[in-house]
Amino acid sequence: MSAKFQNSASEARRIKVRATAGGIHLFNRATGTNVLIDEIRPSPANFSQAPRQVSIALTNACDLACEYCYAPKHQAHLPFEDLKGWLRDLDEHGAIGIGFGGGEPTLYPKLTEVCEFATKDTNLAVTLTTHAHRLTPKLLRGIEGNINFVRVSMDGVGSTYEANRGRSFDDLIGRIKNLSSLVPFGINFVVNSETILDLDPAIELASKMNAREFLLLPEQATAFRLGIDEHTRRMLTTWVEGYSGAVPISVSEGNSDGLPTCNPLPFETGLSAFAHIDAAGKLKRTSYDQFGVTISQIGIIAALEQLKESHQLSIQ
Ligand code: SF4
Repeated sequence: MSAKFQNSASEARRIKVRATAGGIHLFNRATGTNVLIDEIRPSPANFSQAPRQVSIALTNACDLACEYCYAPKHQAHLPFEDLKGWLRDLDEHGAIGIGFGGGEPTLYPKLTEVCEFATKDTNLAVTLTTHAHRLTPKLLRGIEGNINFVRVSMDGVGSTYEANRGRSFDDLIGRIKNLSSLVPFGINFVVNSETILDLDPAIELASKMNAREFLLLPEQATAFRLGIDEHTRRMLTTWVEGYSGAVPISVSEGNSDGLPTCNPLPFETGLSAFAHIDAAGKLKRTSYDQFGVTISQIGIIAALEQLKESHQLSIQ
């Protein structure tokens, strides 16, 4: 048996076990398989403490300047040693996956090292969200085998994309093709009045390139932009209702109002399901939130408890 095959076989046997209100959740990051054993209901004292999924902004740095960007613009990036400790804690307390983003995570100097650490030293599934223009052959070799899924931002096709992102669309497609032979990938698509009419050609292209997912991101309001308008949101709802293509579509949870969605794990909400770590090392409910708890002094699980308590106080 070759070493590579042995590695993938042992990887396939690594099953994450998460105790939840809905039952015992089993997850295999190599295959993406989720199994919920709902005949077994753990007591609340035994629920896994970490959120199911945590997004991590490795850095605020980015070499693009998209108008609808909501990433903070002050300089910040996460200390590598702190990050390793947080990943261990999340893994030990039952998180099943982490998503590295930014800013642009390929500008994080230790991206290959942190992906390798997460894969070899934890049982977490690793995803990366990127604009893809820095996915050079060297970087792809560095992350191959240490990333389970890559999400590529592609808001519109052709001239729409180039107006939004200020980069060549042909270059993007070339980068995605190089990526697709190494790692499963999906497309992230910001939906607004400028991009909505490109949904059909974009998902057709995604299908041809064997994308595994097409994630709809209705544009968020920022200090400079109002976010998706009501007319475009209605057009999006109609488009989703009429969609019957092969690529699975999904939508960002915080902005799915009015869209026909299903949630396979409805018993886990809020901080049980998801949390975000920003590039300054603050734990937040979402990447859009202003309020967060600094992790470095107290550790990630204590920060999570503080965040839950502050939320309880704010709604009393
Ligand atoms: S690529 Fe992403 S992080 Fe960079 S400016 Fe655009 S939206 Fe913001």
